[in-house]
Parts: sequence; C-alpha cells; structure tokens
Amino acid sequence: MESYAYSAPASVAETVALLAGHADAGRAVQILAGGTDVLVQMKGPAHTPRTLLDIKKLDEANRLEVTPEDIYIGAAVSSARMNENAELKSALPGLMEASDLIGSTQIQGRATICGNLCNASPAGDSIPAMIAAGAVCDLASATGRRELAVEDFVVGVGKNALESGEFLLGLRLPMPSTQTKDAYLRFTPRTEMDIAVAGVGISLTLQDLVCTHARVAIGAVAPTARLVPEAAAALVGSTLDDDALEAAAQACRDAASPISDKRGTVEFRRKIVGVLCKRAAAQAAARVQGN
Ligand SMILES: Cc1cc2nc3c(=O)[nH]c(=O)nc-3n(C[C@H](O)[C@H](O)[C@H](O)COP(=O)(O)OP(=O)(O)OC[C@H]3O[C@@H](n4cnc5c(N)ncnc54)[C@H](O)[C@@H]3O)c2cc1C
Repeated sequence: MESYAYSAPASVAETVALLAGHADAGRAVQILAGGTDVLVQMKGPAHTPRTLLDIKKLDEANRLEVTPEDIYIGAAVSSARMNENAELKSALPGLMEASDLIGSTQIQGRATICGNLCNASPAGDSIPAMIAAGAVCDLASATGRRELAVEDFVVGVGKNALESGEFLLGLRLPMPSTQTKDAYLRFTPRTEMDIAVAGVGISLTLQDLVCTHARVAIGAVAPTARLVPEAAAALVGSTLDDDALEAAAQACRDAASPISDKRGTVEFRRKIVGVLCKRAAAQAAARVQGN
C-alpha cells in the first residue's frame, strides 16, 4: 500500500529537482505551504497518497520585501506576517483586507495568499485583490523562471496554469504611486469564517479628483476571478460620479457568470457584485484622498 511522504527542501534548486524527479517517475507530488487547504483535502476521499513538498524552509519563499519600485511576497509568507508589515498595509490596503478575511487568526497564522491563489477556488478572497493590484506570479521549475499575470494563472475551478515540475515561488507587485490605492470587499451571509458570495477588488489612480487609471476584478461570480477591463474603462476619465459608477457596476454584472447555490442565486450574485463594485471604488478613492 502506498503511503504519504514528506520532504522539506532547503533550496529552490532542491525543490525543482524533486518536482522534476517525481514528474519523470510518474509519482504524485504536491506543494505544501500553510496546509490550511491541503490538510482539509487530505481528509477527503479523493486525496491519494503522494509526496508533500513543504516550501516553508525556502529563504526565497519567505521573502517579504517592500522597495520604492516593487513589492515581493514569497509563497511561504503567511497572512499573519503580511498583517504585521506596516509598509505593505499602507501600500496595498485592499490586498491586506483580502488577506485578513481568510479564515480566522489561527488560520492566518498558517495560510498564505499564494496558497489561496494556487488552490484556485472561485471564492478565493485574495485573488481579485491581487489582480486589481497588478500582481505577477514568479514561477520556478528545473528549466528556469517565468512570470505570469495573476489573471492568467487560474484557468478553472481548482485548476491553475502551473506546468508539471513548476511551483509558485512568490508574487511581484508594482509599488502603487501615492495617488493610487486599492480596496477589496466581499459579501458573505455571515460576518466571519464564510465563503464569499461575491467579491470585488479595485485599484484606482486619481489626479485632481479625476480617475486616470483603474483595475477592477470580480470574484466568486464565475468559475475564476476575472479582470473586468470594461469596468475600469467606465471609471477612467471620470470623477467617479454616479453615471461612471453605475457603468462600472453594469460591466461587473455583465462579466459575471455566477451559479445559484445555498449562499445565493444567480440574480442575487449579479446584483451584489455591482453594489460591491461601487462601494469598493468609493473606498479606494477615499483612501487616495487620505480619508
Ligand atoms: C476554517 C477555514 C476558513 C477559511 N476561510 C477562508 C476565507 O474566508 N477565504 C478564503 O479565500 N479562503 C479561506 N480558507 C481557505 C484557505 O485558508 C486559503 O485558501 C489559504 O490561503 C491557503 O493557503 P495555504 O498556504 O494554507 O495553502 P495550502 O493548503 O498549503 O495549499 C493550497 C493549495 O495550493 C497548492 N500550493 C500552495 N502553495 C503553492 C505554491 N507555492 N506553488 C504551487 N502550489 C502551491 C497546494 O498544493 C494546495 O493544492 C479557509 C480555510 C479554513 C480551513
């Protein structure tokens, strides 16, 4: 009978060699970050024995760097560690909001936003916020490194664009200008420990009260989180007046292709994603203005 194996490589080179070795030998292997999804999955009937590759000992995956040019969040950095970083909080309050919504304090002590992304749940809270913030995946394999925009990383429910032998080493985000701020809002039936029924991440740049740049992403209302360029286009050039906000909300409703389940109907989810778009835009704008 096959059993689980555990390995905690000490370097990226060792990690990608182990991934490639398992792929060549046809042996199942899975990256373990915080384990808050993996351990739940392991208790399910579909999880078969495999090697768990723990990335928490990798220096590069533990990098959390904020420079004037960009921000790097390694794949082993927990939400709790992000929360303690004042520079990150000030630069990307929306991404931090999303990270802070993942589970409870206990869960955040382990959970990573990179694990949230790789798990590829349609309702993953950090994903729309990462997309809005323009995050790019830093992917590593035995053949080298490549980058992929977060909006192209999740390709279906529970499916990501990682190739065999590849893993996510971290996320790189541009440092927002002082005139740029983000926001993330979700709707859940309960206030705590629930899965998003709809979520919206927005990043806005304002110059003299006019929106000059925007990125809008929706979550939990389609098989994957989606960038909505039409919503951004509705905001750019406006002072975020009612007409512009309504046009952006309509674009979000149009981009949604939700399901009905016990948490909400198709109609409810569409309506809510529009409401969240307006509120998140107002919140990001207020942040630019220092409110
Ligand atoms: C009680 C509870 C409440 C929760 N609440 C929320 C919530 O409100 N919102 C929400 O979005 N999620 C929630 N979650 C889900 C979970 O906590 C998040 O998805 C978490 O961010 C996953 O991160 P992790 O580091 O624990 O990932 P892990 O469990 O280690 O990994 C998750 C998946 O991604 C893969 N993976 C992880 N890192 C990498 C990598 N670097 N490269 C390649 N593959 C990788 C793993 O193989 C696995 O398939 C909750 C979970 C629990 C148990």
